Amino acid sequence: SSSIFAAVEMAPRDPILGLNEAFNADTRPTKVNLGVGVYYDDNGKIPLLAAVKAAEKVRLEAMPPRGYQPIEGPATYTSAVQNLLFGADSALTAAGRVVTAEALGGTGALKIGADFLKRLNADAKVYISNPSWENHRALFESAGFTVENYPYYDEATRGVNFEAMKAFLLGLDAGSVIVLHACCHNPTGADMSDAQWAEVVEACRSRGLVPFLDMAYQGFADGIEPDAVAVRLFSASGLQFFVSSSFSKSFSLYGERVGALSIVTESKEESARVLSQLKRVIRTNYSNPPIHGGAVVAAVLSSPELRQQWEDELAGMRERIRAMRVALVEAIQAQGVEQDFSFVIKQRGMFSYTGLTVAQVERLKEEFGIYAVSTGRICLAALNSKNIGYVAEAIAKVVKA
Ligand code: PLP
Repeated sequence: SSSIFAAVEMAPRDPILGLNEAFNADTRPTKVNLGVGVYYDDNGKIPLLAAVKAAEKVRLEAMPPRGYQPIEGPATYTSAVQNLLFGADSALTAAGRVVTAEALGGTGALKIGADFLKRLNADAKVYISNPSWENHRALFESAGFTVENYPYYDEATRGVNFEAMKAFLLGLDAGSVIVLHACCHNPTGADMSDAQWAEVVEACRSRGLVPFLDMAYQGFADGIEPDAVAVRLFSASGLQFFVSSSFSKSFSLYGERVGALSIVTESKEESARVLSQLKRVIRTNYSNPPIHGGAVVAAVLSSPELRQQWEDELAGMRERIRAMRVALVEAIQAQGVEQDFSFVIKQRGMFSYTGLTVAQVERLKEEFGIYAVSTGRICLAALNSKNIGYVAEAIAKVVKA
């Protein structure tokens, strides 16, 4: 063939999007998709939050012009982000030591952070947790880095193998980039304790590591403030670090692509230099961020009434997921399953690493039309009062046989 694309090979399917395609093609009315990373309400719908609706209504009525935004996004947005991550009374932000740029979701924040890091230290290695969000590796590799795993999840305890992780960090070269899930670890739901976070901060200090916190689920574990503990401990340490953050989940604004990259520097003067370079990265990627999603988030967070309404709605999502954890464990146990599933209640965030094997996940799909990730990860936020009984019975059947 003479096509310029003749040599283009078919790329492997994205495992999670592939699961969605298979789910959509399934004609069984009882089918359930637990593979997604999205919060659904009890009716199985992605909610449009009332606080978001209210802010959108005001924007729609004002019909504002659509000029270009600043490369790093508007200050109304970036300061609202800093408020949530670093706290309203942060000494760092007051001292001008935090650079924040709006980004295209958490993914976009990771990508501009990775590109910036590559310009800073092209030879650094990047370390991600074993296991991690499936896009971490590909994203840092596509920015040109070699990516390796650090020990994290312990199948035996279903928690963090902290001793192994710490020993590993203490053996890394200075300048190594270490990607940390700030809360609600995806996919395992296993987070570090506050004391363990403090030890990670010390390991980063003593080895001269570059911490990169990924905060995609703030508010889904215990609430906005408690979920920021890792950011706050790093803030208090005096170290420099990166934070990627996302409003996809916490505002249910997935498709609007609203996130941010924040970089903590040593001084206000350093911030100016860092921002100038970060802006070059953004300028050559997509120039400047879209308006709508960030404007809605900024409007909600800057209005005391809307902010309260949002926090209440976020608490509602968090509590519904927790209720689903408890109900799932009870319903599985009620089927006479001997295996203890109570660990599901302790896991945090949207997911559970169930320990189901590849074969059991396959049976769930084939026999019951229940779709989960082959690693055994399920999304608790896809369970609801109508499908939970069916899912629990199916899980009980596959683990008993
Ligand atoms: N980081 C982690 C750990 C995630 O789980 C996700 C989304 O699933 C993201 C980043 C990306 O979020 P966004 O959809 O805002 O790009």
